Amino acid sequence: MSLKIKKQLVSNLRYTYGHGNKKRYITIHETANTSRGANAQAHANLQSRGFSSSFHWQVDDKQAIQSYPHSVSCWHAGDGRGGGNTESIAIEICVNSDGDFRKAVENAAKLTRKIMKDEGISIMNVVQHNAWSGKDCPTFLRRGSKGILWSDFLAMVKGGSAAKVTPKKTTASKPKAQAKPKAVAKLKVDGKWGSATTRELQRALGTTADGIISSQPRNNVTQALYGGITFGSKGSPMVRALQRKVGARVDGKLGAETVRKLQAYLGTVQDGKLSRPSLVIKEMQRRLNAGNF
Ligand SMILES: [Zn+2]
Repeated sequence: MSLKIKKQLVSNLRYTYGHGNKKRYITIHETANTSRGANAQAHANLQSRGFSSSFHWQVDDKQAIQSYPHSVSCWHAGDGRGGGNTESIAIEICVNSDGDFRKAVENAAKLTRKIMKDEGISIMNVVQHNAWSGKDCPTFLRRGSKGILWSDFLAMVKGGSAAKVTPKKTTASKPKAQAKPKAVAKLKVDGKWGSATTRELQRALGTTADGIISSQPRNNVTQALYGGITFGSKGSPMVRALQRKVGARVDGKLGAETVRKLQAYLGTVQDGKLSRPSLVIKEMQRRLNAGNF
């Protein structure tokens, strides 16, 4: 079924940075408003009335409504004039309790695919709000709390047919006939952190999935990697997301402290060191493969 698309453009750009959006990314959010009736129309109306933040699209189980042209830099990512607000197109997925969340996610996937095509954006640049500011958004997809994970969403975007994606059940045992979700990683569990592992980690964290950890310091940890790294002083968005996830200091640079926190997160020995190959990386690969990193 095709997605119903509606325009209800906000003419006043007061709550935006105006035109000039570079349109390099698509940022996925959830509204976090579970009230009954908090659907796409309600959020579009909110923006029409002059809401203090702004986003290009809101989508629910019935339709997608556009509030701003893609050329506008909206205020949604919580990163000021960073890449989230000034280089991305924002989609808010509605989580109203009287709506069908799975259908809303399917519609968001259809909309994402359309925007990717219209604007020439790659799936690697479809990211979570979390990637920009560390906010726990989109919350349900990040946790899989409604039976749909971020990886399922990406599979819907890629797959074209959302119906193929299997819901993950956390409690009941699985019926035998269930197909495996497509997006789960198939990494070799060898404890070697190279480009393939980085790419799956990036997918799991919702950052650009190019398999490269950019702008890293030279130290014992970064030298233990098996490629897929560039050196510099700025740090990497993926490492920042990883650090937030494991509770390490957030500077975007891999080092002993991040490894120690990663080891604590994964329940392996906490010595802050990466061996070649490494136990903590083996565990990380296992978890990425299982879709529960
Ligand atoms: Zn958000």
